[in-house]
Amino acid sequence: MQKRHIHRRQFPLKLRRKTVKAFSFLALCLIILAISRPLIHLTITAWQDREKLPAPPTGFLNDASRMNLTHVKEVWSVPADAKTAELQLSQLLQRAHREGLPVSIAGARHSMGGHTLNPDGLVIDMTTFNQLTLEADRNLLHVQSGACWSEIIPWLDQRGKSVKIMQSNNSFTVGGSISVNCHGWQYGCPPIASTVESFRLMRADGSIVTCSRTENPELFSLVLGGYGLFGVILDVDLQVVPNEAYRLQQAVVPVEQALETFDTMIDHPDATLAFARMNVTPDQFLQEAIINVLYRESDTDQRIPALSEPEQASLRRYIFRGSGGSAYGKKLRWQAETKLQPHLQKQCVSRNQLFNEGVEVFENRSADHTDILHEYFVPRAGLAEFVAALQNIIPRHEGDLLNVTIRQVEADQDTFLRYADQPMFAFVMLFYQSRTAAGDQQMEALTVELIDAALKVDGCYYLPYRLHATPRQFHKAYPQAEEFFALKRKYDPQELFQNQFYRKYGLDSGTP
Ligand SMILES: Cc1cc2nc3c(=O)[nH]c(=O)nc-3n(C[C@H](O)[C@H](O)[C@H](O)COP(=O)(O)OP(=O)(O)OC[C@H]3O[C@@H](n4cnc5c(N)ncnc54)[C@H](O)[C@@H]3O)c2cc1C
Repeated sequence: MQKRHIHRRQFPLKLRRKTVKAFSFLALCLIILAISRPLIHLTITAWQDREKLPAPPTGFLNDASRMNLTHVKEVWSVPADAKTAELQLSQLLQRAHREGLPVSIAGARHSMGGHTLNPDGLVIDMTTFNQLTLEADRNLLHVQSGACWSEIIPWLDQRGKSVKIMQSNNSFTVGGSISVNCHGWQYGCPPIASTVESFRLMRADGSIVTCSRTENPELFSLVLGGYGLFGVILDVDLQVVPNEAYRLQQAVVPVEQALETFDTMIDHPDATLAFARMNVTPDQFLQEAIINVLYRESDTDQRIPALSEPEQASLRRYIFRGSGGSAYGKKLRWQAETKLQPHLQKQCVSRNQLFNEGVEVFENRSADHTDILHEYFVPRAGLAEFVAALQNIIPRHEGDLLNVTIRQVEADQDTFLRYADQPMFAFVMLFYQSRTAAGDQQMEALTVELIDAALKVDGCYYLPYRLHATPRQFHKAYPQAEEFFALKRKYDPQELFQNQFYRKYGLDSGTP
């Protein structure tokens, strides 16, 4: 009786054990299956990645596009000492006049259309001219124009201050940033020119002038967003703000609800930074968006976290780089950003920390492909039509869109050649393209259509990228351009300051 009883109880126990084993094995297989594909994908990406970008051959320079290899006659680095720099720079400009050499001015060379280059020209490298001083009580930074945000932010951090308006990365110089009139994700702000109090400019004849809204106001508005065509910006008085602690809120929504969600989330006095990112996976192309809003920390006891190295940089790099040329990689990235990242990121983060990330975290270092930025400015009323146009145009041209972020920019009251003559939403798009003539032609055709789509909704496009816009498109987007170039020739009659942008749109061939 007892035996039978034991026997009856043993059988289900064995069965249960077997079942548990089978399920455990199945679960393990499923886990391995689930993680093996991303693991293999990320391992291959890491394996193919290069540590560094190779330098161009001697005598040549390129810009961030890696599509503008140009032979230059000379690269001249500005001495760090201001007095020596001013003397030697004026001598250099005189020599360039005498020898008939075109002069271009280079910051970090992250523009992408040869804006810092002339074939066989003379290049002034500003990056060695980078000293900083602060008038803390006036929130005013005096900065030499070659200083990079990556040098400025840690320095300001130690003094409790932060940059007021800048790009979303720290790899750019002040001179380059104000010469393109950059903007960022600082909500409710115009572009950076609004934070420039004044600057000193060395003109083509070697004279130095101070420019502000009251002193030489015409030159002030021409040089800001003037692409280095009016002289060398020596130093700048730039407004700064206190560093602060922020907390992030995110929402993932279908694209039709994105604007309404954004409006609700931003409608808060502590909302300070904001951007949206769209899903770029081919099967959900631009149909979903993550809205990110950073709010000023209301808990006054909350200490501002110390500045540290960017977190999980390698993992984020491989996830991002693995999305180039891969639908699976794009899907993985979207899942990581919407499902994993919210659990990994810190609750409280400093303003300086958010601004202090270099482009190295995601830059393309492959030999045969490059990443090319585009940017379109669209007024609110044109948003739906423009997004529908993107959904149609990009797949039709087989454009490999890696990323699109959307930010809000207020109207620009300061620059002559302006892209935001009314409040705009900026679509910042990063495309992966082959570094061949065919790849560039494909991108040109895509760009021309995208610019037309922006123009159709009373929008504009950004000038520091590839020079694919036709002269007709350029003049339509920038109706002030003809007068801008006429004034360039008034201030620089010998056209000493030149670059590829000027050669394409400013010289005769560029007239409408
Ligand atoms: C990965 C990436 C992300 C970007 N993100 C953003 C963004 O979020 N927002 C945005 O608005 N832009 C963005 N940009 C564009 C960027 O702001 C511009 O390309 C900017 O010019 C970069 O600064 P730079 O120091 O590299 O300038 P450079 O490319 O070196 O120079 C740009 C122009 O400024 C002129 N110039 C430079 N220094 C001086 C000087 N001292 N005096 C006179 N003229 C000068 C040059 O002649 C040139 O015409 C991005 C670019 C890249 C590659």
